[in-house]
Amino acid sequence: MPAHTGHAEIAGGGIGGLTAAAALARRGWSVRLHEREESLRAFGSGIYLWSNGLAVLAQLGVLEQTVDGAHHGGFIQTRDHRDRVLSRIPINRPGGVEVLTVLRERLINALLGAARTAGVRIVTGSAAVRADPSGVLELADGTRHHADLVVAADGAGSRLRDGLGLLRGRRALGQRCARFLIPRTPGLVPEQDAEDYIEFLSGNRFLLYTPSSATDLYIALVCPEDDAAAIGDPVPQQPWISAFPQAEPLLRELGAAPRWDEFECLDLRSWSAGRVAILGDAAHAQPPYLGQGGGCAMLAAAGLAHSVTHGAGTLENRLRQWETRERPLIARTQRFSYRVGRLNDLADRPRAALLRVLGRSRRFADARLRAARAIPAGTDQIR
Ligand SMILES: Cc1cc2nc3c(=O)[nH]c(=O)nc-3n(C[C@H](O)[C@H](O)[C@H](O)COP(=O)(O)OP(=O)(O)OC[C@H]3O[C@@H](n4cnc5c(N)ncnc54)[C@H](O)[C@@H]3O)c2cc1C
Repeated sequence: MPAHTGHAEIAGGGIGGLTAAAALARRGWSVRLHEREESLRAFGSGIYLWSNGLAVLAQLGVLEQTVDGAHHGGFIQTRDHRDRVLSRIPINRPGGVEVLTVLRERLINALLGAARTAGVRIVTGSAAVRADPSGVLELADGTRHHADLVVAADGAGSRLRDGLGLLRGRRALGQRCARFLIPRTPGLVPEQDAEDYIEFLSGNRFLLYTPSSATDLYIALVCPEDDAAAIGDPVPQQPWISAFPQAEPLLRELGAAPRWDEFECLDLRSWSAGRVAILGDAAHAQPPYLGQGGGCAMLAAAGLAHSVTHGAGTLENRLRQWETRERPLIARTQRFSYRVGRLNDLADRPRAALLRVLGRSRRFADARLRAARAIPAGTDQIR
C-alpha cells in the first residue's frame, strides 16, 4: 500500500505533541508544532517510563540519550499505615516488563531533539485557539494554517477539543497531588529500601518515593481535595509527618508546593473530527496510579503517525482506523488507574487486607501491566 504523507499542524509541545511531531516527520510529513509557552518546559519532576514508552523512544532514535543516567528500581513496594510491606513486586527482570525513572526534562529534551532532527518546525509563544474539521488550525494572533492533518495535543484542559464538542465525560478522583524534586542524600529512607520505588499509604494520604537519577529524588504527595490541613504552599509538614512518621527526614526536605494537581479520567465521543486528531491527555487523561499517562500518549502518537501514513482510504478513515486500534487498551488503562486511585478512599485495615491479596495475584499484576507491555504500531515502517 502506498504511504500517504502531507502537512501536519500540531498544537501542544508536551509528551504527546512532540512524539507525534517526530513520528510524523520521520515518515516524511512536513510538520509545524505550536507551543503556547515561550519555551518547552517539563513540569512534574520525575517520570516512570515503561516498556511501551521505551519502545516508542527507540522508534524515534532517542532511547539511549533519554535513559542515560536513569534509575532502574529493583522492586515496587507498597507499604501500609504501620509501614508494613503489603507487596514487593520485582521489576526489570530478564524477559519481564522494563520500567525506569528519569527527570521529565530529560524526556522532553530527547523528544524535542528527535523532532528537530526529523525537520519539525517548532514555534513557541504560539497559542492555538480553534481547530476546524476541514483541516485548519487557528492561532491567537488570528492566523489560520491549513493542513492535511491537525493534531490537538494541548493537554487535559484542551481548548481545541472543547471547541469541537468532543468531550463526553469527565470523572475526577477528588484528589490533589504535589510533586517535588530533592537531592538524594543518605538517611532519607532505610538503606535497604533506597533503590526501590515505594508507595506509602496512610489514611487517605499517599506518598510516592521515586529515585530518578543517581542524585535526584522525586516525591509525590496525594490527599483528598478537602484535606485542607495537608494542602498548602509551602507544604504543611506536620500533617504529613503524622501520617508518615517513618518518612519524617524526607518530608522535612520538601518546600514550595505551588501546584496541587487534580486527577481525572476523560472520555471523548471520538478521538477525531474530520481532519483533526485529539491526542494524549486531551483525549485520554488518566490518574497517574499506573504511571501510564505519558506512555499512553506516546503509544497513541506513534499509532497516529503509523495509521495516517500507512492506513487505507481517506484521512478521515485512517483516523478512525487509528482510534479503533489504540483506544480499547488505553480506555482500559484509564479505567484501571481510576480504580487503583479509589483504593485511597478505603480505611487502612480493609485496604491493607485487599492489597495483600492483590499483591499476590498474578492476574492482577498481568492486568496492571497490560499497557506497559503494548508494542507500538508500525515499528517496522520507520525509516
Ligand atoms: C502526578 C502525576 C504523575 C504522573 N506520572 C506519570 C508517570 O510516571 N509516567 C507516565 O507515563 N505518565 C505520568 N503522568 C501523566 C503524564 O504526565 C501525562 O499523561 C502527559 O504529560 C500528557 O502529555 P500531553 O502532551 O498529552 O499533555 P501535556 O503534558 O499537558 O502537554 C500539553 C502541552 O500543550 C501546551 N498547550 C496547551 N494549550 C495550548 C494551546 N492552546 N496552544 C498551544 N499549546 C498549548 C501546554 O503548554 C503543554 O506544553 C503523571 C501525571 C501526573 C499528574
